[in-house]
Amino acid sequence: GLADVPLVIESLTKSYPGGLTAVKDLSFRVEPGQVLGLLGPNGAGKTTTLRMLMGLITPSSGEIRVFGHKVAPGAPVLSRIGSFVEGAGFLPHLSGAANLRLYWAATGRPAEKAHIAEALEIAGLGDAVHRKVRTYSQGMRQRLAIAQAMLGLPELLVLDEPTNGLDPPQIHQMREVLRRYAATGRTVLVSSHLLAEVEQTSTHVVVMHRGALVAAGEVGDIVGAGGEATFRVDRP
Ligand code: ATP
Repeated sequence: GLADVPLVIESLTKSYPGGLTAVKDLSFRVEPGQVLGLLGPNGAGKTTTLRMLMGLITPSSGEIRVFGHKVAPGAPVLSRIGSFVEGAGFLPHLSGAANLRLYWAATGRPAEKAHIAEALEIAGLGDAVHRKVRTYSQGMRQRLAIAQAMLGLPELLVLDEPTNGLDPPQIHQMREVLRRYAATGRTVLVSSHLLAEVEQTSTHVVVMHRGALVAAGEVGDIVGAGGEATFRVDRP
């Protein structure tokens, strides 16, 4: 039944005040263990979709179900989703590990096992976890933010453009983090505006353009079947 399906999105629509429809009648599902790349150019509606999934904003119509439970702001099922958004604030004078312990205590779920050590290991920060965050590079900060999203080893990890602003070596490291998380058998949903990135990190892909789904399937089918020809990125 649906209780085993990490994500089902059905006829999801979001219009912002002022009339812009950022997401239009979007439907797709993600099966356990898949790494789904949500691909589309700037403004395609990826962030709006992920913000609805994270319970940050309410759909205009349609619904999102995570393990069968309807997602809404404040819904209990949100505790089963780990989410990364760019620009997570860390306390610069504390170590990476201390920041994560503090964050976990602040979630109000400290009694649950945080798996802080495992999350840090997957994030690949090595001994730097004991150094102050103010000494971290952008890539290290971003991987610490991913580690934060992975605390509790959520069954569904949602990442909005985790490689944004990173240089090629940092992007490579971020990909390794996604691979290691996916190797634990958990499900990942990751957005990107880069076809090559989705190709290298994801098992499946959903392509969005102007709020609507334009293609979906296994990465090999979408990318191999002329996906490059039909998908154009609107920014370099
Ligand atoms: P990006 O790569 O920039 O994150 P995206 O695919 O995530 O792009 P969204 O951020 O979801 O796209 O934006 C989709 C559309 O909705 C854009 O036209 C954007 O300007 C508009 N939009 C986003 N947030 C709001 C808002 N709070 N109010 C009004 N319009 C918005």
